[in-house]
Amino acid sequence: MELVTLNDVLPKAKRKGYAVGHFNINGFIWAQAILQAAQEEKAPVVIASSDRLVDYLGGFKQIADMVRNLIKRLDIQVPVVLHLDHGQSVERCLEAIDAGYSSVMYDGSHFPLAENMKNTKKVVDYAHANGVSVEAEIGTVGGYEDGVIGNIHYADLQECVELVNATNIDALAAALGSVHGKYKGEPKLGFKEMAEISTAVEIPLVLHGASGIPLAQLHQAITLGHAKININTEMNIAWRKALQHSLVENPDVYEPKILLESSKLVIKQTVSQKIKDFGSHNKGK
Ligand code: 13P
Repeated sequence: MELVTLNDVLPKAKRKGYAVGHFNINGFIWAQAILQAAQEEKAPVVIASSDRLVDYLGGFKQIADMVRNLIKRLDIQVPVVLHLDHGQSVERCLEAIDAGYSSVMYDGSHFPLAENMKNTKKVVDYAHANGVSVEAEIGTVGGYEDGVIGNIHYADLQECVELVNATNIDALAAALGSVHGKYKGEPKLGFKEMAEISTAVEIPLVLHGASGIPLAQLHQAITLGHAKININTEMNIAWRKALQHSLVENPDVYEPKILLESSKLVIKQTVSQKIKDFGSHNKGK
């Protein structure tokens, strides 16, 4: 199956009250495990590379070709979006589009609104002319991701409305208390603000920093318009535990395939469980 865009999967998810899982890749086994889990669960899926990891992973073209080849090789029949997560500049988003990504996030959330809007609009114009979808962000997701630490800063309702109207983006990440990486204490999302933003903008919302958020809060976020939920940390914690166990249990083994097998399996199990939690299983048929 060819790659699809956020527009092929998110509006339907929002209408029907479930969310499509967005899973970040940190290497080849992540890509395999995410696609296999989505196929087994018959779920639409967003497979994403964080811009900060793109060069480490071999560059945009390498990633796009790998995902396309895996879709063919593994006979993946469910809808797959290949998405750039936290695109750091207009140029990086355009590069991803040229390399074959079907969706990009431009993250101009650290800029004043006018500059965020101006840059986001440039990305949208190029992306839409090439049949690619765009996500943008307002506010700041807290925590640690790929070497960068940020403080929580709530998205402003008026800014969300302005950004959506001025740029014609396809999905909005409105930061409302979530954190990339591990939470310190119980996550507390701003549901009052979420309800207001969801009512004011019609496009699907995206929840970043969803690892570690209790299921009841995730379900409430879905009810309040979130149609894409981003997971990275929970897969990586499971991977690390399994790898550590495997190294301790097999002190004389040095064949990577044997040592990495169980860590790949737990990534797949984590993705499958998230897909079920988000209610997107059997929605990709
Ligand atoms: P976690 O770190 O909570 O898994 O969030 C991932 C994410 O939001 C990627 O954009």
